[in-house]
Amino acid sequence: VIRLTVLGSCGTYPAPGRACSGYLLEAGPDDGSGPSAKVWVDAGGGSLANLLALADPSELDAIWISHLHVDHVNDLPLAYYALRYGDYDRAPPILPVYGPTGWADRLGGFVTMGTSSALEDAFEARELSDGARLTIGPLELTAVATVHSVETYALRASAGGHTIAYSADSGPCDALVRLAGGADLFLCESAWASWSDDMPPHHMTPALAGRVAAQAGAAQLVLTHLRPHQDRRAALEQAGDGYGGKLGVAVEGDVYQLGGTP
Ligand SMILES: [Zn+2]
Repeated sequence: VIRLTVLGSCGTYPAPGRACSGYLLEAGPDDGSGPSAKVWVDAGGGSLANLLALADPSELDAIWISHLHVDHVNDLPLAYYALRYGDYDRAPPILPVYGPTGWADRLGGFVTMGTSSALEDAFEARELSDGARLTIGPLELTAVATVHSVETYALRASAGGHTIAYSADSGPCDALVRLAGGADLFLCESAWASWSDDMPPHHMTPALAGRVAAQAGAAQLVLTHLRPHQDRRAALEQAGDGYGGKLGVAVEGDVYQLGGTP
């Protein structure tokens, strides 16, 4: 079984009571026996509070940061505080954190603010590259570099014969079609309501997400990273113009499970 819970789905900035990009990805055997895995994917503002309702950061096997824009990373410093200063009987295991090149240097100074503590007290810094594969328990993860304004990695996650693809932030590109190829669930950002040819390829629109999902043969498309003011119903209509599969818009608390008993 593989399961994705939406911790935050707002693009760029949050809406009242809601959170920026964050997802809890979990996998385990269908019958509940054997190894399982929990990965927090993107740490946008507010997503840690929603994660804490489901799991303690000390229970995570890894954190995946797709890129260093604030709406995807700004709860990571708080996760460091939670692990360092949380009410634990003994220090939690050092947590592997995967991110783009140089992420630990960029965030380390901010997190530790010149004190004697260091990022390594809670996190093990690991860097992603295009095509990198990692195995975490039953989860097989592949990083796919997208076209965005900074180094960014989408995530293709498989377990038990099911696949979830997450676009991270991306403009329209062939990499997204590969990422979502044959996926059971394609979680695709749609930060821009509409497209014009003079725009840089930094984000998707609902219409573009629908086209990519159709091209990739994804069984289900879930739009995410809509800006708070974006019209969700219009987004669904636009995505549906080019895509005939199951379609939705991600909202905090939504759970998408493949395999097992929901
Ligand atoms: Zn971004």
